Amino acid sequence: MDTIYLDNNATTAMCDKSILALEAVYRDGIKNPASQHHAGRHSRRLLESYRESVGLGVTAHLTDIHADRVIFTSGGTEANNLAIQGICGSHETPGRIVISGIEHPSVSSAAKFLALGGWDLQTAKTLPNGQVDLEHLASLVNADTHLVCVMLANNETGVIQPVEDVVSLCARHECMVHTDAVQALGKMVLDFRGLGVATMSISAHKIHGPPGVGALVSRHESTFLPLFYGGFQQEGARPGTEAVALAAGFSEALDFYLDKQQKHFAYLSRLQELLEDGILGCCPGAVVVGQGSPRLPQTSCIAFPGIDRQAAVMALDVAGVCCSTGSACASGSSEASPTLLAMGLAPELVEGALRFSVSILNTEEEVRRAVAIVGEVIACFE
Ligand code: PLP
Repeated sequence: MDTIYLDNNATTAMCDKSILALEAVYRDGIKNPASQHHAGRHSRRLLESYRESVGLGVTAHLTDIHADRVIFTSGGTEANNLAIQGICGSHETPGRIVISGIEHPSVSSAAKFLALGGWDLQTAKTLPNGQVDLEHLASLVNADTHLVCVMLANNETGVIQPVEDVVSLCARHECMVHTDAVQALGKMVLDFRGLGVATMSISAHKIHGPPGVGALVSRHESTFLPLFYGGFQQEGARPGTEAVALAAGFSEALDFYLDKQQKHFAYLSRLQELLEDGILGCCPGAVVVGQGSPRLPQTSCIAFPGIDRQAAVMALDVAGVCCSTGSACASGSSEASPTLLAMGLAPELVEGALRFSVSILNTEEEVRRAVAIVGEVIACFE
């Protein structure tokens, strides 16, 4: 039985360009980019070229006098924690932090951790269409608010958030905005400067790069404390010997993705349409969550009323289709999705919601076969 992998929001297979880039660095012999000898300096130049290419890929401005920074991290989770704990930690006394109700656990849990230390954590409501309620958010932002976190696109529904509007309403209070762009990277046009945020998280393994590397992109003037102490690497923002090979793999994956960006958008949209139309056609009562809202082209959250989502994921797995019940960080837990609850979805829809996420490596034929399998499996539950 051939597996049909439709869980690409959890992670993607590495592309050849990325694998080759990693291999080239490993075969060349790893050197410490902080070493003073010529071999170390060569490694440093390579690392800085990967940093530049990742920054350019997200339209950061790297050559201004007030240049943006790209700080390599171990992934999106660390980048989110660095922004949240780092920005808030730079204030002498706790203030208010506002997050949306649909953030990834690496944001919501970091904010809850701050609340234990006396921060006033407020959560903005979510509209039924899956977007943050801007009016409610505006009512929560006051002169004491130091940070607002709204993700660029949700990992479960794919719904794109009005981050530019969030930035405008926060400007009045000179409050910093952090956005988690881990799922958005490569799936929509990403313009760091255009968004106007203070910091933005990205991760390589969602775009066919290696797991274990991501970055926090930061405006020159965004001040934050490091999470770790012990070295001067990355200007002290993220001490520790940099993983040059992983940075190479990240940079190549981003190049590969952005090289044919419009083609990839169109292809992913085609797969999404095939999948959603196919499933809605063969599963009466199924609902696409967030349909009608601006959405990423690779994410389809489909609710099957009356179905037990855990049992359905397992049955689909046995039948050869890999999908998920929500965030990979929460999978294995039987708790209902906080994102879908925040949207006010009816309990029977929350209970029966599955996430299918395609990638450019999936074929139309695979998606058609998956639709047929989903139809058969869901019918067995009815
Ligand atoms: N943010 C979002 C929206 C995600 O979907 C994920 C991963 O699923 C992360 C952050 C965490 O990224 P990483 O796995 O690179 O730590």
